[in-house]
Amino acid sequence: MERMRVCEYCEEPFTLAATGRPPKFCSSTCRKNAWYQARTRQEVALAVTEERRRIADALGLNSGVGGAQ
Ligand SMILES: [Zn+2]
Repeated sequence: MERMRVCEYCEEPFTLAATGRPPKFCSSTCRKNAWYQARTRQEVALAVTEERRRIADALGLNSGVGGAQ
């Protein structure tokens, strides 16, 4: 009996092997792409946080940075 699964990256259905750990992706390419995408998302989120902090600093919104005493 064939078991089907949808790739978490390209969302194409693929057949699961009868044995072993069920993969989340239809191919190693999709696995790699998904990993890369997750890493990029993380880096973007980090960069956004950094940028927000920089802007807050520039505007003097953070306590201690030109704030009222
Ligand atoms: Zn895929």
